Amino acid sequence: MGRGEARADRTVPTAKERGYARRIVNRLASRYPEIGTALEYANPFELLVSTVISAQTTDDNVNRATPELFARWPTPDDLADADPEEVETVIFSTGFYRQKTRSIIALSQNLVDRYGGVVPDDMAELVTLKGVGRKTASVVLAEAFGKPAIAVDTHVRRITNRLLLTTENDPTRIEQDLKALVPKHEWRHLSMRIIQFGRDTCNARKPRCWECELAKLCPFVPKSHPPE
Ligand code: SF4
Repeated sequence: MGRGEARADRTVPTAKERGYARRIVNRLASRYPEIGTALEYANPFELLVSTVISAQTTDDNVNRATPELFARWPTPDDLADADPEEVETVIFSTGFYRQKTRSIIALSQNLVDRYGGVVPDDMAELVTLKGVGRKTASVVLAEAFGKPAIAVDTHVRRITNRLLLTTENDPTRIEQDLKALVPKHEWRHLSMRIIQFGRDTCNARKPRCWECELAKLCPFVPKSHPPE
């Protein structure tokens, strides 16, 4: 999907709407020219597993746990055969460790059984793996394979709604709206730029509108004020 394609509600963005999106994308690209996931990984398998573990915790927490995880179980074959209790002790500090352990062992078994232990570089295939949704699949496609994909997390949902790049709440529909508005070559870095912008400036509770480079474009009302 790209220029001229439809949004989730089947409308096609106008040239003016695409121009508005382009100005936002360009400003974020100027602010964050080099951007990538903070998750540390050596290959697509490690990024896939790390992204699943990153749910409901910080990337730093994940990065503290994964060196031991991948030292002990470096491949899908290894993790597929791992003792769940041992894996749980290694990723315990990342929270939801039982559910995450089940997912990463099962997705490793899926990889071994169906893909010869190789992470597929295709959205339709990635989302068939246990515990892998579109967001995780998009992170892997964009970061590990350099493919055009837009991951929609809570930052992306909040900020794209504030900027009226979408009026949708469902992540898949937001993804579709963004893909209709933004040229394909910009998809790959868009999520990470928005996520970093969300952490630095447009955070959930107290957006720092007074120092925001998008303030003149942003329709979000009321704008917040600097602390006294
Ligand atoms: S002006 Fe405020 S609400 Fe709008 S993008 Fe900037 S920080 Fe976010």
